[in-house]
This record gives sequence, structure tokens and C-alpha cells, in this order.
Amino acid sequence: MPDITLSNVQKSYGGASPLAVNNLNLQIGDGEFMCLLGPSGCGKTTTLRMIAGLEGLTSGEIRVGDQVVDCPAKGRFLGPEKRGMGLVFQSYALWPHLTIERNTDFGLRLRKVPKAEREARVAKVMKALDIEKYRDRYPSQLSGGQQQRVALARMLAVNPGVLLLDEPLSNLDARLRLEMRAELKRIHAEFRTTIVFVTHDQWEAMTLATRIAVMNEGTLQQIGTPNDIYDRPANRFVAEFVGSPPINILDLGSDHPLDIAARDWLRTRLGERADLGSAGLRPEALQVAMTEGNVPAGSFRHPAVVTGILPTGGSWIIEVNCEGRVVFLTTTESPALRGGEEVWLHARPTSLHVFGQDRQRLAG
Ligand code: ATP
Repeated sequence: MPDITLSNVQKSYGGASPLAVNNLNLQIGDGEFMCLLGPSGCGKTTTLRMIAGLEGLTSGEIRVGDQVVDCPAKGRFLGPEKRGMGLVFQSYALWPHLTIERNTDFGLRLRKVPKAEREARVAKVMKALDIEKYRDRYPSQLSGGQQQRVALARMLAVNPGVLLLDEPLSNLDARLRLEMRAELKRIHAEFRTTIVFVTHDQWEAMTLATRIAVMNEGTLQQIGTPNDIYDRPANRFVAEFVGSPPINILDLGSDHPLDIAARDWLRTRLGERADLGSAGLRPEALQVAMTEGNVPAGSFRHPAVVTGILPTGGSWIIEVNCEGRVVFLTTTESPALRGGEEVWLHARPTSLHVFGQDRQRLAG
């Protein structure tokens, strides 16, 4: 399957409302599992619908390989049925009067695929999704998660080069959701389908994607592997959107003692002229020491008081207070700490994410 390329894509729904998608440039390679991640209203669904052909661009261009599928300036628009893509939305609709098997082979019958081939393909996807045992049942006799698997099977049966999924797991409970994530990864590996997957759930994106495109207010914030996004966030928005508990942000322009300490410490590393705006510290990058003597040389440090120890089952969230400022850290080792204890909070130099006054990444 050829690459999907979005060039300077803009989408306006008209009126005075801001652009739903603003100058988006994105290339999705063959066999990628691309997650579009961002908060509600950031334009992810609109982007997916434009790729599918369910929504036209206001300006810009979408190409599939060399073929322009949408470009208002060239007067070109290819309808969804001509793009060879499969779509599964949050609210998937199965035919209530058809059995699971008939639901699964629906698209193949529509395309008049010969019977033998149809049966072979349906058998393959039903096996891959473990729904063979329900073949003679009707949708109303299946759970929501089982129905969602049938919706996926129906899509995969027609063997689309590209699978477009809009929050397809959002109706499932936590366990089933996890199972379906693993299932999707297997499907991706087995069918080598290009997948574009919309989610607002950072963990879903982190666990599934080969690359993540983070969006906010219609604008692409960063595109990269899950590790890139987590370890080298391009700006404050990405740093704060990804990670749980969220990253601790220090405002380097403030006169709070913790912020002043971080600013002075960073100035010695980055020089006096650095345009310091804020610094981010991931909870797992922070540690506590009982005495300053136990803080590794060169680390950023500040005195703190332990104010909360929250077990989360196998790991702990520790809340400390630095002169009125609450900071969270996480640990996977049982903490030998008591509430009210005075400690030293510290972090390795490389674990500080530094952002300029324009909120873009400076260093770290
Ligand atoms: P969600 O996760 O809530 O679905 P999203 O990131 O997918 O959000 P979109 O649905 O793409 O966001 O919406 C982007 C912006 O465009 C929002 O401000 C939304 O209100 C607006 N919008 C979406 N569809 C329409 C429409 N049909 N008419 C007018 N405005 C729309």
C-alpha cells in the first residue's frame, strides 16, 4: 500500500469558528500503525474523516501514493468507496438480522467476491479474531466487546490496504480494552495493514503506535515514536498531555524557591543567555534521599517534606511539598518513608526537560 501524504491540510467548518485542522503535514508510511492523539476537539476525527473521504478539505492536498485523492485547488476529490480504506468508528453498526458469519462476509458479498475465496477469507479473519464460535449467533446475543471484534473482522475481511479506526475500543471495559489492544497489534503484524487510529487515551497510543501524531487545537504538535514523544516532548503541551501522573512543571520565571533553585541550576548548565521558560520533571525521574550527602553529585536537588504515600499496586506515588509547592514522584520500590519526614528531592541532570518562553523544547 502506498504512503498517505497530507500536505498543508486545512479544514474549516465555516462561520467564525477556528480552523478544525490547521496546516497539517503528515506522511503515513506503508504498514505503519499511526495514532492521532490529542484532547477532545483537537481535530483528530476530522483528520481521519478527510483521509477516508467522508469530509472534504478546505485547502491543501491528500495523496495516496502518487494519486491525489483530495485537492480543492485542482478540483479533485475521490469518494470514500474509491480509496480502498476500511473504517471502524466508535459506534460500529452490525446488521441485527444477520448472523455473525453473514455480518463478517457482508463486504465481500457486496463486492461480489467468488464464494470459495469469500469463505476462505471469512474463515481466516474469524479465526484471527476468535469469533468462529459465534458464527451462527446474532449481534444481540454478543457482548459489546464481541460485537466490536465482529466489526473489525468485517473490515479486515475485505482486506483494505488502510484501516481507519476512530476510538474503536472506547466502549469496552478495562480488561477487554487491553485484550483488544493486544489483538490489534497481532492483526497489524499478521495482516500488515496500514492503520490510522484516533484516540484521546495516551496509554492506548503509547502501547499501539509505531508513531504518534500529537494534535492540539487543530495543529500538529509533534510526530514521533512513542519513546520520542515521552522522552523528548517537543513542547510544553506534549510534555503535559503525555504521562501519568503528569509531569511536574517548574515555572522558571517565578520567585518561588524551588523555581529559583531550578533556574540557577540550569543557568550554570545552559549559560546565562538561555531563554528559560519552564522545566519539566517526570515523576519517575525524581527520587528522594534522606540526607543531602546521599544525593548524587551534579544532581538537581531541593529540600522537601513527604506529605503523602499512595500505593497503586506494585508501585507508589509519593507526594512531597517543597515550601508550599506540591511535587509528585513515583517509585516501584516500597518506599521507606513516613509522612512529615524531611528529605531531599533530586533528579539527574539529563532528566530535566527545559522549555523556552515560547514553550518549545530547549534542552534535556
Ligand atoms: P473528539 O475526541 O471529541 O471527537 P476530535 O479531536 O476528534 O474530538 P474533531 O471532532 O475533529 O475533534 O473536531 C475538531 C473541531 O471541529 C471541534 O472544534 C469541533 O467542534 C469542530 N467540528 C467537528 N465536526 C464539525 C461539524 N460537522 N460542524 C462544525 N464543526 C465541527
